[in-house]
Amino acid sequence: MRPTFVIVGANLAGASAAITLRDEGFDGQIVLIGAEPDLPYERPPLSKAYLRGEVPFEKTLVRPADFYREHNIDLRLGVRVSKVDVVVRRLECTGDERVPYDALLIATGGRNRRLPIPGFDLDGVYDLRTRHHADRIRAEMAPGRRAVIVGMGFIGSEVAASLRTAGVDVVAIEPAKTPLLRVLGEEIGGVVGRLHRDHGVRAIFGDTVVRFEGAGRVERVLTKSGTQIDCDFAVVGLGIEPATEVVAGTAVRVDNGILVDELCRTNVDGVFAAGDVANHFHPVFGRHLRVEHWQNALKQGAAAARSMMGKGQPYDEIHWFWSDQYDANLQYAGFHTKWDQLILRGSLDRRDFVAFYLNGPRIDAAVALNRPKDIRLVIPLIKRRVVVDLENLRDPNVDLRKLATA
Ligand SMILES: Cc1cc2nc3c(=O)[nH]c(=O)nc-3n(C[C@H](O)[C@H](O)[C@H](O)COP(=O)(O)OP(=O)(O)OC[C@H]3O[C@@H](n4cnc5c(N)ncnc54)[C@H](O)[C@@H]3O)c2cc1C
Repeated sequence: MRPTFVIVGANLAGASAAITLRDEGFDGQIVLIGAEPDLPYERPPLSKAYLRGEVPFEKTLVRPADFYREHNIDLRLGVRVSKVDVVVRRLECTGDERVPYDALLIATGGRNRRLPIPGFDLDGVYDLRTRHHADRIRAEMAPGRRAVIVGMGFIGSEVAASLRTAGVDVVAIEPAKTPLLRVLGEEIGGVVGRLHRDHGVRAIFGDTVVRFEGAGRVERVLTKSGTQIDCDFAVVGLGIEPATEVVAGTAVRVDNGILVDELCRTNVDGVFAAGDVANHFHPVFGRHLRVEHWQNALKQGAAAARSMMGKGQPYDEIHWFWSDQYDANLQYAGFHTKWDQLILRGSLDRRDFVAFYLNGPRIDAAVALNRPKDIRLVIPLIKRRVVVDLENLRDPNVDLRKLATA
């Protein structure tokens, strides 16, 4: 009997796992189950080129429809898994369908956080995770319309940039002192804040939204400090929470996502997790971490597939992501939650720099604005835990590759 591998979540991590299983020669049954009606697609364009109408949806697909047929991948779209029985190894789907498995990959990603405030459910208040969400926001975009962005994290910042590019008037409200403060710190967050200001975004920092108001549809947003902003629509970007409910009530351990080891294995035999939902042990940083990046979904989905086949390798990718806002390209590599030194190479004012987040003499992470090449060069420094000389790091004339060989 050939084994059945089931993947729950048919987006990037899940599709990447299915593709890898076939690439690696798995000849059993693959069932890929996804709650969304669309073929697996990439989300980054939803806040960028797709939102602005610059690329058709088909260009965002991970693979065309034929691929799944040709590779004998049983793709079940518009189907939600409601329950997993990890003892008898069987899933229950909406509509009472039951699917047995020999190995299971959970790639259910995340869902947007919501605000428990009045008016959140009014028409014209949007969040953004899926193609359907992006289509609804896009239908609102026209020069001169007025939008409020709630939260200047990556999604809020990118949507603000896309709306401004489309000629929409944008007011952004962010509780922190700058955009992206939690991830990048005040200095770098300030650069992003000025970028938006220079493109005409009116940003209100240090304030929070307490209410959306309107007769059936949002007409204004009220903040804690008493500011009232009239608008035609609002987009809320408050981050995501991992979608772990499929394993609720099972022995699978959950702590800020589904806990997995460096081989993407949960504590329950035959159950794996990857992508935004997985809180994975990272051998380079010696701790568990959960990231919400395109590159991780792609590579960890593939790594989990190899582990399901019994030929896994420790997943030790240095995490990397990018964000495009206006004509600025921001890239980040590594992982940090705190740092004791921030070393700068380049100029914040010219928006041409790479900044390194260090703990002790080692780089945990780096962020670059309009310097993608530097990010590629810094990844080996992070991965090999190189002890760096701070003056060399700061000096733009010292090739970053030389630091790697030191
Ligand atoms: C607007 C936007 C822009 C982004 N831009 C960038 C960027 O520029 N750079 C970057 O690095 N990253 C970016 N990201 C993040 C990146 O897209 C995610 O990290 C990636 O999509 C994670 O993939 P995933 O497969 O793990 O999870 P998801 O994409 O969340 O997919 C999980 C899938 O599982 C399905 N599912 C959940 N529960 C069930 C269930 N019970 N039964 C069946 N199906 C279920 C969901 O419907 C969903 O389709 C962006 C994300 C968004 C939303």
